[in-house]
Formats: sequence, structure tokens, C-alpha cells
Amino acid sequence: MMNNCRTLSVNAVSEAVAALCVEANLHLPKDVATALELARQRETGALASGILDQLAANAQIAAAQCLPLCQDTGLAVFFVELGRDLRLANGADGAGGADGDIYAAINEGVRRGYAEGFLRKSVCDPFSRANTGDNTPAVIHLRLVPGRSLRIVYMAKGGGSENMSRVTMLAPAEGWEGIKRFVLERVREAGGNPCPPIIVGLGIGGNFELAPLLAKEALLRCLDEPNPQPDLRDKEAELLELINDLGVGPMGLGGRTTCLGVLIKTAPCHIASLPLAVNIQCHSARHGEVLL
Ligand code: SF4
Repeated sequence: MMNNCRTLSVNAVSEAVAALCVEANLHLPKDVATALELARQRETGALASGILDQLAANAQIAAAQCLPLCQDTGLAVFFVELGRDLRLANGADGAGGADGDIYAAINEGVRRGYAEGFLRKSVCDPFSRANTGDNTPAVIHLRLVPGRSLRIVYMAKGGGSENMSRVTMLAPAEGWEGIKRFVLERVREAGGNPCPPIIVGLGIGGNFELAPLLAKEALLRCLDEPNPQPDLRDKEAELLELINDLGVGPMGLGGRTTCLGVLIKTAPCHIASLPLAVNIQCHSARHGEVLL
């Protein structure tokens, strides 16, 4: 039988991850920049408009001067799709060596990227609060897929917005009305803490651990990319309107622009449950991807 396997060196993975971390922290994704610009055109409040102008100027300065968009360069979160016919090797050129460790390769990339890009190291022990010093370990979600490629999606997740995220187990009878009520309460309660305008990722269904993962992954869909499910598209639009009616505004100082987008991802759930996770992302929604 012919061996269809392709080999890739762990060093190539680390290099690509390092570059991804730096690039994503300096450049606001195009869809987010466009959403901020459109929000600025709609915004009527003077203070809110001024803040949106400052966010746009900040993004321009960061890109022009190779500076991080925000001082909080985040916990490094990865969604990785590893082709079943791709072998990672420890040899420098990928031609030989023992089998490589994808987790170690990604963490090495984070270590290099956060050092080379002068990005803040924000990871510590939960009790001693001692900083690990290199922004590792990253949070890595790995999936095996058909093929010989490696797709790595990176998100720099700031603490301010992550702290405002919540998970709950609703009663099934609460339905869409209960979901809306919970989300609106969370956004109102969060106020300026997650640095609005925010993006709201919702994970609906699954179970207690899957719902937050769905919510996090939902945040990776571009704001200008419609939800493939028309019923969810309508729900996202309805909730976006309701959130912006709250008047929290940019940085929580009032205005029409509280939220740039609501992104929903669902999964089937137990007949007795309606799991709901709200993962809030700030305006500095930094993410990027690489295909190897
Ligand atoms: S919530 Fe976002 S914009 Fe605010 S400090 Fe954290 S990373 Fe920066």
C-alpha cells in the first residue's frame, strides 16, 4: 500500500505560530476594523463617537509602529485541525527524527512569538500568581481531520472580556426568551469592563463543558460572514439590536455602540438541558490563522 503521509518539522510549526502571535497582536482583523468604522458612522453620541475615533487611531498607530493593539496581549488560544496523514517530526528539516509533539511545538511558538514581539506575558499560577514568564501554556483545542495539512487558528484572549463571560444551564422551557434575558443581563452587568464595543459569542446546547467551547469558537467567525443557518442569523440580528438598546456604549460610557456582532454556534443537547455559554470578546478581537 502506498504511504500517503506528509512530514512536517515541529520547528516549522513553532515558527509559524510565533509569526501568527506577533502579526495578530499588531493588526486588527479587517472585519473588526470595518465593523468599528460602520458603527462610527451610525453613532450619534459625541463621547461615544470620540471613543470610536480613538479606537480607529489606535489600530492605525499599532500597525504603523509595530506596537501591540493593547497592553493585554492575551492568553493564547488555539483551534487546531491536524490532518490524519500528516506526521510531525523532530528533525530540523522535517525529514527525520522522532515523532514531534504538536502541543510542545505550539507552546514553543508562543514562547518565541511573545518574546520576539515584546508581547506581555499574562499567564500565571492560579494560587501563587507566579508568572510562567513566557505566556505558556497555551490553551489548545485539537481536532483530527482528513488530509495532510495543519490548520492553526489563534486568538489572543484578553482577561477583561474573558472575566465577563458566563455559563449557565437553563431549563429547556426557558427557550429563546430565557437565552435573551440571560445574555442581556450579562452584558448590562459587564458594563465597561470588557472594553466595549464587544462581540458576543454564544454557545447554545451541548453540555456543561461543550457550550463554552462552542461560544469561544463562534467568536472566530468573521463579523461580515453570515451565520449559515437562517434561523440563527435572525436570532443574532435580534439580540444585537437588543444589546445595543442597552445604551452601555463604547468603553461603557454610553452610546448606541455596545456590540459589533452576536455570533451563535449550537450543538444538540440532553432533553432535560439547555446549556448556554456567553463568551464576551472586546473590540480588540485579535485572531489569525495559518495553513501548513
Ligand atoms: S478587554 Fe480587550 S481591549 Fe480591554 S484591556 Fe483586555 S484585551 Fe485590551
